[in-house]
Amino acid sequence: MKIRRRFTIYNIIMLMTPIMLIGVVSVGFLLVFVMKYPVEQLQLPRAALINPRVLSRAIGAFFQDNPSALGVALLWIGLCLLIIIVTTTVVTMLMSRSIKRPIDSLTRAAECVRRGNLGFEVMGSDYDEVDRLCTEFDSMRRALRQAAKKEELMKHERSMLLANLSHDLKTPVTSIKGYVDGIRDGVADTPEKLQKYLDTIYQKAEIIDDMVNNLSVFSKLELSRVEFKFEYGSLGAYLEDFCGEYRMDLERHDISLETEFDDKGALVKIDYEQMGRVFANLIDNAIKYKKNGRGRLYVKTFTKDGGVYAELSDDGIGIRKDELENVFDSFYRVDGARNMNIKGSGLGLGIVKQIVERHGGRIWLKSDGENTGTKAVLYLPEVRADMKGEV
Ligand code: ADP
Repeated sequence: MKIRRRFTIYNIIMLMTPIMLIGVVSVGFLLVFVMKYPVEQLQLPRAALINPRVLSRAIGAFFQDNPSALGVALLWIGLCLLIIIVTTTVVTMLMSRSIKRPIDSLTRAAECVRRGNLGFEVMGSDYDEVDRLCTEFDSMRRALRQAAKKEELMKHERSMLLANLSHDLKTPVTSIKGYVDGIRDGVADTPEKLQKYLDTIYQKAEIIDDMVNNLSVFSKLELSRVEFKFEYGSLGAYLEDFCGEYRMDLERHDISLETEFDDKGALVKIDYEQMGRVFANLIDNAIKYKKNGRGRLYVKTFTKDGGVYAELSDDGIGIRKDELENVFDSFYRVDGARNMNIKGSGLGLGIVKQIVERHGGRIWLKSDGENTGTKAVLYLPEVRADMKGEV
């Protein structure tokens, strides 16, 4: 109910209740008066009624003749005043309580927000306007809680990131130190051994280089320091060229490439350089996580539900279902990948996800478990030719 309507009702109650009660009480008193006192003495000529002096004199005379009537009249006046005072007090109390309750609840809520406690719920109100205020306040509280949770999560991710980074950098550094010590101590006493040691040192240095590069891209993306240069183009056409460039590399790693580009010239908003980083990461993963023997990578694009999809399906080592959600977290590496000593920083998919999301798209992995292969699915919203605006 609107505040104005509710207050009008209260005002009517505040006016009507004493009128009715005073009416009833007055009728009672009048009856007593009429029965007990000679009221005919008060029947004055009409002229006297409009002359206040004559009237007051007549009333004064009446009460002088009947002193107990004065007591009854005073009692009547007292009762009327009492009725007015009680009804206005009760109605004012009800009125203020009905508005005070939600305001108190909002004050308590604001105090909770100030103290950082966001786990409460703001009660609604019978007044439409106050109820809207409560609803707005509650949605602000929920937004704040979500932001606080996100911040908490980011804090946790930061500490995980640092812990993982120091661990992942320490491993190759320790290994490099070990090999350098070996060379210094003369353990690598033949040219072949020395070459092997140097190759290993180089490989470990490459891992560190890779990790630092990925870390730099990752933090630039996180801090939104990467400028995206979007253009309108066909994902399929771009991926066809991209796969063409990668075909030899895949063949070198004993992986056959099959493609099917079927997005029929659908347009998407795309930054080719960044999208190249995405596909390079996905194809590198298909190479890194392949099983022994000849592998297969099947790349396909198609349109569906107002978007363009790209699927990259490999027949590699696969991912356990319970790990699928975590692989996009920064520094997350499935244990198998760590243990098998496959080169990687655990940042690749984190970078991929950020780039795809900056395109307004989504990416996820599918796998039926270990040794069943992995499918990366990328979705970008299609841009209709008539919707093309500034990129
Ligand atoms: P990494 O540098 O370790 O490859 P990514 O972020 O690219 O980091 O991948 C995270 C983890 O996801 C990898 O360590 C690996 O365990 C798993 N993974 C990613 N792609 C594949 C794939 N195609 N097949 C199997 N596992 C994969």
